[in-house]
Amino acid sequence: MIGALARSFRHGIHPEGHKEDTEHLSVERMPFVDRYVMPLSQHAGAPSRPLVKVGDQVQRAQVIAEPGGFISTTLHSPVTGTVRALGPGHHPGGKLVDAIEIEADPFSTQRLAVGGAIPWRDLTDDEFVEHVQRAGLVGMGGAAFPTHVKYKVPKGKRVRRLLVNGCECEPYLTADHRTMVERPREVLRGIEILATRLAVEETVIGVELNKADAVEALEREIAERLPDPSVRVVPLKVKYPQGAEKMLVEAVYDIEVPAGGLPLDVEILVNNVGTMAALADCFDHGRPLIERIVTVAGPGIERPANLLVPVGTPVRAVLDHCGGLRPETREVVMGGPMMGMPLASLDVPVLKGTSGLLAFTEAEARLANEYTCIRCGRCGEACPQFLNPSRLSRLARAGRYEEMEEYFATDCMECGSCSFACPSGIPVVQLIRVGKQAIREKKAK
Ligand code: SF4
Ligand code: SF4
Repeated sequence: MIGALARSFRHGIHPEGHKEDTEHLSVERMPFVDRYVMPLSQHAGAPSRPLVKVGDQVQRAQVIAEPGGFISTTLHSPVTGTVRALGPGHHPGGKLVDAIEIEADPFSTQRLAVGGAIPWRDLTDDEFVEHVQRAGLVGMGGAAFPTHVKYKVPKGKRVRRLLVNGCECEPYLTADHRTMVERPREVLRGIEILATRLAVEETVIGVELNKADAVEALEREIAERLPDPSVRVVPLKVKYPQGAEKMLVEAVYDIEVPAGGLPLDVEILVNNVGTMAALADCFDHGRPLIERIVTVAGPGIERPANLLVPVGTPVRAVLDHCGGLRPETREVVMGGPMMGMPLASLDVPVLKGTSGLLAFTEAEARLANEYTCIRCGRCGEACPQFLNPSRLSRLARAGRYEEMEEYFATDCMECGSCSFACPSGIPVVQLIRVGKQAIREKKAK
């Protein structure tokens, strides 16, 4: 019955969930390895600025890089050890970016020395924002947008509703699911802190119906610890890309965020459940963001798992811990299969925004052959932004980037629903992405 009443947004797609291998697996801690790499650019915005030099001894959770601007964040050492290198390192995105390499001290217990609770109620608004930036918090859902930026509400704006994202609509990923099941107290505590600080009128946690145990855990926690009618869980239909901020706002409130705008324009702030738990860790235990839950799954991995992984751990070490890759593996993707990055090398680190490592065989690879567009319109029916993906992809292929802007290419969130829906195997989103990049570069010039 609840399924019939559940809400959702318009358009979107229904890919197979493939969550059964890990959704019931408790989170286990990844053992420490001997080497960690912390790219200075692992969040949206300016790179962080290093505060250490080669040879420095560092403690676990010590600040090693400061924000490079307001839209930037702090980096902390994931282990106690020694800085071994400072310079270009391979980023999962394929580029070389400056990074800090740390060798773990083999004799350290890696016990976390943290600073204790922070009296968050007594802070000014600016101090609260600074604390969140100092803790290195970024959106845990994948985009890694610095969290404190969202909490700095511009003059003349206000947040009336806090919308907490528990959708995890990407196939295979179960990190957020396990956070809700295993850490509902911290999720609710993060909500209590943020809702109080921003003086919101109500908080909704949007959770898709395929996570019944998460809904139950959160509702139990609300009843026991936060019996407040202004906080509630809203079950949502299972649909992709419901975890995208604008889609979640539409699904829960039936409000459309204006094109080019933000949820803040409709007085809503969206945060992921993992970010809420990290906020509680930050203010209740003085714990910065140095580790995160990563789902390791897909038919190419020997032992699927949900792991608590220190940021900076090499992907190869994580996969080895899970029994390694099966011989038939063809591709490893960081993130979900729809919006994640295929990795060119396994010698890249887990980042703050790494929600999953997925190993795929030939069978899951996208259609190898591309056929001509049959003008079936399925890409348009799938597009949650109501764009015309086939036209945009044709314009991109022809290099007619200026015309793409006239068809609202910049509103494309690169969710990949169009490519998924296309029966001709046309790489629609990849083409649009190229066009958007060309538009951005032209504007930058
Ligand atoms: S055009 Fe963009 S927003 Fe629309 S379905 Fe394709 S990737 Fe998603
Ligand atoms: S779904 Fe593919 S074949 Fe159909 S209109 Fe879109 S691009 Fe063309």
